[in-house]
Amino acid sequence: MSDNATKERIWILITPDKCSGCRLCEIACSLEHEGIIWPEASRIRIYELLPGVNVPHTCVQCPDYPCVEACNFDALGVNERTGAVLVNEDNCTECGACFLACPGNVPRILPSKRSVVICDLCGGNPKCVEVCHEAGHDALTLVKGDYRSIYRTFAKDPVEKSEELSRKMYGELLG
Ligand code: SF4
Ligand code: SF4
Repeated sequence: MSDNATKERIWILITPDKCSGCRLCEIACSLEHEGIIWPEASRIRIYELLPGVNVPHTCVQCPDYPCVEACNFDALGVNERTGAVLVNEDNCTECGACFLACPGNVPRILPSKRSVVICDLCGGNPKCVEVCHEAGHDALTLVKGDYRSIYRTFAKDPVEKSEELSRKMYGELLG
């Protein structure tokens, strides 16, 4: 990706402290991509692994795209304009290599779809961000620019993120 393209790429900035756990984002995402309300197929998931600690979790578009590199079946590519990972469902064999390569365990295999699902940023206008804003939470915000320096903060699995957030909310005793 060229430097200019990198400056133009978009990103969903997640502020978990603001997440209410309403899961409207999961509904909006599954409606957009699958045409039905199907939270399991949502490309953003809300994890409540600890009571009251809601962690929105989705692809952070790693600059080195380990998932794309790991795929041996040409099933993953990158949208040069947005930076989103694109899944070619016909090529996906559900081998799980992308999941193992991802620092956040983001790609999910849905047996009934016979391919992984990964956030595609809705082509540049993520519906999850829209609905979260409309509901008055703003736990998800669309930002533009080069986030190479901070993406690692977000490229973690949901368990680690939940523990970090619970420490922030409740202190070391409960974290
Ligand atoms: S729409 Fe926003 S507040 Fe609601 S679950 Fe999703 S991220 Fe959290
Ligand atoms: S967060 Fe995971 S799915 Fe997204 S680009 Fe990085 S490795 Fe790929």
